[in-house]
Amino acid sequence: MANLTQGYIRRGLYIGRFQPYHLGHQAVLRKISEEVAEIVIVIGSAQSSHTMENPFTAGERIAMIYEALSDLRNRCYVIPLEDVQRNAVWVSHLISMVPRFDTVYSNNLLVVQLFSEVGIVVRKPPMFRRDVYSGTAIRKLMLDGGNWRNLVPVPVASVIEEIDGVTRLANIFEEDSTQ
Ligand code: ATP
Ligand code: MG
Repeated sequence: MANLTQGYIRRGLYIGRFQPYHLGHQAVLRKISEEVAEIVIVIGSAQSSHTMENPFTAGERIAMIYEALSDLRNRCYVIPLEDVQRNAVWVSHLISMVPRFDTVYSNNLLVVQLFSEVGIVVRKPPMFRRDVYSGTAIRKLMLDGGNWRNLVPVPVASVIEEIDGVTRLANIFEEDSTQ
């Protein structure tokens, strides 16, 4: 793990919307945890909630992530980040909101492009069973009454159940389709 020589702490940054946090995210974070001492997890589109694409609030997503990572030895900072409507200033917006980091981990093409343009190293972690571990696929299963629970860490399923997340999603769908 940790490269803590001479007080320099290696930090990795992982960004996603985590709607919801699933086992694909968890697999990537476990891998990152072996490569860096500390992890900065950025919750993108933090201002969005109660929509089909973004049903959960930033606070709910923070709870999911902390519960799921409670056994990780690395220090994790979980930081919500609101969107800015100008991609050109998004990296500096992010940098102003998080502790210093060395490496970004992302597969999102726009994220990779924006960081690479300012010379920040981006690693692309391999996708882990993307056919099933996908936020979009999981939200669809929630709506269709399918088995979404085994696609998220157990504590995440509990958080979603506590907030009655599936009913919320169904209500949002209902509202969207009657407008
Ligand atoms: P959505 O379908 O809502 O976009 P998502 O599953 O893509 O959800 P995000 O929160 O958009 O999840 O993704 C955060 C990061 O996690 C992105 O870099 C994405 O490429 C990565 N990621 C998503 N699913 C997997 C997976 N199964 N294995 C590895 N990485 C993943
Ligand atoms: Mg995505």
